[in-house]
Amino acid sequence: MTQEAVVLKVAVDAPVEGVFDYVLPVGWEGGGDALAGRRVRVPFGASVRLGVVVDAVGVPSPELKAVEALLDETPLLDADDLRLGQWLAGYYHAPLGEVLALMLPASLRGGAALCSHEMRGWRVLAGAPQEVSGAARQSQVLRQLHAAAGGVSVGDLRGMTQVLRALEQRGWVERCDLSLGVHRDACEVVADVPVTLVLNAQQMAAHTAISASLGQFAAFLLHGITGSGKTEVYLAVMTAALQRGSQVLVLVPEIALTPQLVARFASRFKPLGAEAVAVLHSGMTARARELAWQAAQSGRARVVLGTRSAVLTPMSRLGLIVVDEEHDPSYKQQEGWRYHARDLAVVRAQQRGIPVVLGSATPSLESLALVAQARYRLLRLTERAGGARSPHLALLDVRKRPLQDGLSAPLLEKMKAHLVAGGQVLLFLNRRGFAPAMECHACGHVEACRQCSAPMTVHRGRGRLVCHHCGAERAVPRVCAVCGSHEVMMQGLGTERLELALQGLFPEFALERIDRDTTRRKGELEIKLERAHSGEARILLGTQMLAKGHDFPGVTLAVILDADSGLMSSDFRAPERLLQLIVQVAGRAGRADKPGEVLIQTHQPEHPLLQALLHGGFERGAELLMRERELARLPPFAHLALLRAEAKDAARAQGFLARCATFFKDEATEALQVWGPAPAPLERRVGRYRFQLLLVGAQRAPLHRAIEKFAVAQQAWTERRGVKWSLDVDPQEMG
Ligand code: ADP
Ligand code: ZN
Ligand code: ZN
Repeated sequence: MTQEAVVLKVAVDAPVEGVFDYVLPVGWEGGGDALAGRRVRVPFGASVRLGVVVDAVGVPSPELKAVEALLDETPLLDADDLRLGQWLAGYYHAPLGEVLALMLPASLRGGAALCSHEMRGWRVLAGAPQEVSGAARQSQVLRQLHAAAGGVSVGDLRGMTQVLRALEQRGWVERCDLSLGVHRDACEVVADVPVTLVLNAQQMAAHTAISASLGQFAAFLLHGITGSGKTEVYLAVMTAALQRGSQVLVLVPEIALTPQLVARFASRFKPLGAEAVAVLHSGMTARARELAWQAAQSGRARVVLGTRSAVLTPMSRLGLIVVDEEHDPSYKQQEGWRYHARDLAVVRAQQRGIPVVLGSATPSLESLALVAQARYRLLRLTERAGGARSPHLALLDVRKRPLQDGLSAPLLEKMKAHLVAGGQVLLFLNRRGFAPAMECHACGHVEACRQCSAPMTVHRGRGRLVCHHCGAERAVPRVCAVCGSHEVMMQGLGTERLELALQGLFPEFALERIDRDTTRRKGELEIKLERAHSGEARILLGTQMLAKGHDFPGVTLAVILDADSGLMSSDFRAPERLLQLIVQVAGRAGRADKPGEVLIQTHQPEHPLLQALLHGGFERGAELLMRERELARLPPFAHLALLRAEAKDAARAQGFLARCATFFKDEATEALQVWGPAPAPLERRVGRYRFQLLLVGAQRAPLHRAIEKFAVAQQAWTERRGVKWSLDVDPQEMG
């Protein structure tokens, strides 16, 4: 206990930058543990807020306010967690207090006490033998308890109650309270996880390279075609990390879409105990998240499997990070603090001095560029592990061909041939709803959202027009709102319309449509996926949901219906996404004995990207896009930051960004370009006008210096009034 009060530097959970000083009264710290990483309740302005202590320094001056409460007896965040939070706050220009709050589950963020009911366990007493001859189960438990210095939780000893009672009676073990952190220093040697398959030479080379780097920072790009056995490589290096007593963090794009993957991890590591694999994603209840968080933070969970935000989970014994499908756009947070989980994973690995593995069949251009700069090490898997052949890729030129609901006659023939031969057919269309617009044939009026500058999408099943940007709905009109004509027509093609058309064309084959509209209710997606996997559904139709992480061994024909929208988009990343999509979809079709076929319907068969893909696969396509980006000075050959502003009054949003533009132009050296302000691609949304300003830096450092100066300077600008603005560092979507 100290004799003097100390000053706490507190990151307050409020939208303000910086940390704030408070007094911790004498004798409050209770015990010798570090103060940094514990939560406090502090007076802040007119309110009381939660904060996290980031440092404890010096002797307070009399005018400082005191903290109201010190909420934890031990730190919830350790030094590494605080460092990661500080990096995120600095790089993405976010308030540290809000970032640190993001690292906590909701209840703890709200100030609740850490719930400890899961903390009961058993530990071994001095003098207990290593084993009992003739009693295998007793020996097993004794070995387990001897290996874990701090004790083993009841969860990890499930089914052993009888055995434990017997050992207790002999005075060898006792019940204990496993408070957080007891496992922290325990470096248990985990049992060998049984593995049945033998890695092939390429897998072995990857496994050896990564495993040799355990204990130091190294970033690997595991570029392996779909089915080449990337997951088996992850499992092998994870086992190596676990055997060193480390925890492993695995990030996946969307857990709901990858039940097979979760099951594979869970079953492989189940022998390590009931709590061995903790899963973290947004679909869980707050309570379940908190338990998983505790298991991760305390070190009890050996493997943490989660989506984007799991990259911020405190893990006291973290020794390896795996990012599966590293190219997936869902790793980028699109609201609030717009961090990129893959990039954060690499920073976290670097800060901790551990390896990170980024895996994909279609790596992002960013990661490929880092390989070219020798910042990441490339590991290749070029063959399908099961020996299956890669599918045949072909273009279907639909110029001048009549399309029936988006389908050409040769495509229908192909579909029929595959269906009759017993195969499944997968059709891919990235537009949900019935038709993307409703247009008057007489005057050309398009039904638009009243709050957004976008046409309403027709949802025929519900008989409604729906805005996909704000969710506004209204009835489908019978006559044109402008000229009164009855000839209002649905324009374009959505999955709902395609479903109806296909049911008419192939009534004898069961069809399953998988998009956000058909999988809203809990359990619906699982049922539909099950019908797809079992082969019960013969025609599968869906949006990009279908392209993520699923293997459909029975699919012999996969069709990309609308490649043109990816080729002609205003978003410079659209062609990269199209390339990834086609290669991913191709990788899911036709496995083992059934060779697959992939058809790309397009009006632009000569497009260089499609030609490159056709003749040189993903690599040639990626090379082409890389050259285009280099010529255009776009990422990965430049660094972007996007300032977005919106206001009820268009002039205000534009005026604010004009002021920003002037500021940055004054800052600008050769290394910084300022584009805009310009209207956002969706100019009006939910009644607010949106503008944006793009900053392009040849180097990262000058760009970030300019942004830092801006963050301070703008506080005094009157143009801020009535404007909601945000900064997106490394934007993934330009809208
Ligand atoms: P990816 O993650 O690259 O898509 P997976 O790891 O899922 O590939 O492997 C694809 C299939 O091949 C799986 O069914 C897996 O069990 C099998 N497989 C992977 N590696 C091997 C191997 N070395 N020997 C036999 N089968 C393998
Ligand atoms: Zn009209
Ligand atoms: Zn709208």
